[in-house]
Amino acid sequence: MLYTSTRDNRIRITASQAILQGLSEDGGLYVPVDFPRINRTWQEVKNYTYQEMAEWVLGLFLTDFSAESIKACVQAAYGENFDDERMAPLVQVGDHYHLELFHGQTIAFKDMALSILPHLMKKAAKMNHNTNESVILTATSGDTGKAAMAGFKDVIGTKIIVFYPKGGVSSIQERQMITQEGENTYVIAVEGNFDDAQNQVKKLFNDVSLREKLAQEGCQFSSANSMNIGRLLPQIVYYFYAYAQLLKEGQIKEGEKINFTVPTGNFGNILAAYYAKKMGLPVDKLVCASNDNTVLYDLFQTGTYDRCRPFKLTISPSMDILISSNFERLLYYAVGENSEEVKEYMDALNLKGSYHLSDEVRKQLSDFVGEYASEEETLKEIGTVYTKEGYLMDPHTAVASVCGHKAKKGLKGKNIIVSTASPYKFPEAILKALAVENPETDRERLEFIHQKSGIAFPPTITALFQAPVRHRMEATVEEMKDYVLAIIHQKKK
Ligand SMILES: *Cc1c(COP(=O)(O)O)cnc(C)c1O
Repeated sequence: MLYTSTRDNRIRITASQAILQGLSEDGGLYVPVDFPRINRTWQEVKNYTYQEMAEWVLGLFLTDFSAESIKACVQAAYGENFDDERMAPLVQVGDHYHLELFHGQTIAFKDMALSILPHLMKKAAKMNHNTNESVILTATSGDTGKAAMAGFKDVIGTKIIVFYPKGGVSSIQERQMITQEGENTYVIAVEGNFDDAQNQVKKLFNDVSLREKLAQEGCQFSSANSMNIGRLLPQIVYYFYAYAQLLKEGQIKEGEKINFTVPTGNFGNILAAYYAKKMGLPVDKLVCASNDNTVLYDLFQTGTYDRCRPFKLTISPSMDILISSNFERLLYYAVGENSEEVKEYMDALNLKGSYHLSDEVRKQLSDFVGEYASEEETLKEIGTVYTKEGYLMDPHTAVASVCGHKAKKGLKGKNIIVSTASPYKFPEAILKALAVENPETDRERLEFIHQKSGIAFPPTITALFQAPVRHRMEATVEEMKDYVLAIIHQKKK
C-alpha cells in the first residue's frame, strides 16, 4: 500500500512516511493509491473486539508496519483509558442507533484516533530512522486540541502546540485545554475564528524558510489534525465495528446496507465512513450533517463550494467551519484521481473563495446526502429525544439526529447516528434545550447533567476542578509564527 498527494499524484510514499509528514509539501493531503478490500468473512469479523477490529483494518492500510507493532500500538491506545470496554458502543435511541464515540479520555470522538496516533508516529519515526523532534502543530475548534495533547503528553521526542480560537470554544473545552499537563504541551488562544487559525497553521507548514529553521534545530513539523492520514485510518475501524455489532445482535442480515449520519466539520469523520464503503462495507448513504454553517449542505445542493459568507458561532462549535479540509480528499476521487484538477479547485478556493463542480463531478458524490439543522431545531431535538427516550445528547450529536430524521424518507435501511461528544462536554446548550435556568458555574451545570443523564462524572470532568491553569498565552494570527519559533528555540528539556 502506497500513498500519494491529492495535488500531485506522481508522489509515492509509504504509510509511515505519510504519517510522519502529515501534509504533502505541495499543500495536498495524502491518500491511499488503492483501497484494500475486505479479506475476511463477516462470520469471523462480527465477533471481534474493538482491538481485534483495529488490528485487522489498520493492518490493511499500514502495510509497512509489522503486525506486532500494529498490535502494540492498538493495545497501548485502546484500554483502561476508555470508560467502556467496547470502546464504541452502539445503542438504540428511538428509530435511530447511536454509535457512541465519546468514551475516551477527553469525552469527544477525537480520542478514537488521537489515542493511537502518537504511538503510530513514534513507530513511524523509528522505522524511518528519523531522530528529529516532532513538533505537532494543531489548530482546534475545541476537541482536537485537548485529545491531541492527552495523546502526546510527555511522549519523548515530541512537542505539541495547540492554537484555539479565543471565545470560539465552550468553557469546558477551554478549561480542559488550559489545565493540560505535560512538559511538552503548549496552548495558545488566537484572536480570530477556527478557520483563521487553521489557515495560518497550514501556511506555517508550507513555509519553506520556517521549515529550514526547524531542521537546523533538529525538529520537523507534523500534524495531528485530520489532514494527517494517521488520524483518518483509525476512524475507519468504528464503522466496521458498528456493522459487526448490528450483525452480531441479529439487527441486520449479512450484506444488508446501512446508513450513517455524521455531524461534520472538517469532513474527516464522514470521509472515514466513505473509505469504509470503498473497502466493501455495506453502506448505502452517508448523511453529511451541518449546523448553521451550511457550506457543505449548500455544496451538495448546488455544486458550489463558497466560503465567502459570515462565520457563525453555534452551540455545536466543533462543526463551526467554512473550510472543510478533508473534502479535498473526496474531491480527489470525484475527479477521477486527477490531481491537476484538484489543484485548480483548491487554488480557486484560495484566491476567489469558491469553486463550482461540473455535473460530471457532482454525479460522483451520490453516496452523500447533505442536510443541516438550525440552532432552534438542534435545541428542540435535545429536548424531544430526552423526553421521549430518556437519552441526553450533546448538541453535535443532536445536529446529526435532526439531519437523520430529515433525510429519513430518502434512506433505505437502518440509520446510525454518529455520536461525537458526551453531554458533559457542552452542558450550556443542554440546559438551554431543557429550558432550565443557566446556573452561575460550570460545576453546577455539570451537576445538572449528572442528575439528568445518570452518567457518572468522567475522570476528565472531575480533574477540571482540581487542576490549576497552566497555559495563558494569547496571540494574533500574525504572531503565531513567532510563538512557534520561540517554543522550538526553548531547548529540549
Ligand atoms: C471534530 C468534531 C466534529 C467534526 O468532525 P470532523 O471530522 O471534523 O468532520 C463533530 N463533533 C465533535 C464533537 C467534534 O469534536
